Amino acid sequence: MTRKKIVAGNWKMHKDYEAGRDLAQDIIEKLQPNDHLIVLGTPFIHLKGVSMIAKEVSNVAVAAQNCHYETQGAFTGEISAAMVYSTGARYVILGHSERRTLFGESDATVFLKVKAALANQLTPIVCVGESLEHRESNSHLDFVAQQLQDSLFGLTAAECNAVVLAYEPVWAIGTGKTASPDQAQEMHAHIRSLVSKAYDPETAAQLSILYGGSVKPANAAEIFAQPDVDGGLIGGASLVADDFIAIVNGLQ
Ligand code: PEP
Repeated sequence: MTRKKIVAGNWKMHKDYEAGRDLAQDIIEKLQPNDHLIVLGTPFIHLKGVSMIAKEVSNVAVAAQNCHYETQGAFTGEISAAMVYSTGARYVILGHSERRTLFGESDATVFLKVKAALANQLTPIVCVGESLEHRESNSHLDFVAQQLQDSLFGLTAAECNAVVLAYEPVWAIGTGKTASPDQAQEMHAHIRSLVSKAYDPETAAQLSILYGGSVKPANAAEIFAQPDVDGGLIGGASLVADDFIAIVNGLQ
């Protein structure tokens, strides 16, 4: 089975209602026919509107950037996985490093969110990645192994088969510093081998693992060409339609 190649955009907290519609429309108009999956990770206010726009194109889907793990209740300001699903969005980015560092999300809460997403037919895009400190002390492989152990490996094999992973070194997010193609490949191969050990070789072989961290039109193709890199999770460059399209076109 060949695994799905994906380019996902993470708009973070950008674009008001009009600007979000314009960006989605612009991206969809400029998209050339291709077999890859394109996911637009928008703020909650855009999920419904962008899902309606994306309906026109079979390989474009919409993602939330977070959801709560409870189904409903007194959780002011939170949004459940079922609520995300009801907008038409079918993906949710979970465990992004900004959620972990700025909003105190732990591997344990990420795991609960992944379970909630799966229980509500959403595909989680689960983010893992080490800090600069871990990279410089050469503990990055162990650190990511622990993140996977605590945020993912409690899933059944069937559940794991429904997940997309994103490797996002924290030192590369929004910094302009990209992991080299070799650094990305090393970590992606490491992740795949850990998934193979935790589950089985087939689950590992079919898992899409995206690279995220300062991907730009100029560096996308080289990173995407690595054998264990199945596409990208794109922050800043996903806010400019031409840049995002150029990155999508870098995926073979
Ligand atoms: C991200 O937000 O997931 C990300 C990778 O950001 P950037 O591309 O801006 O580094």
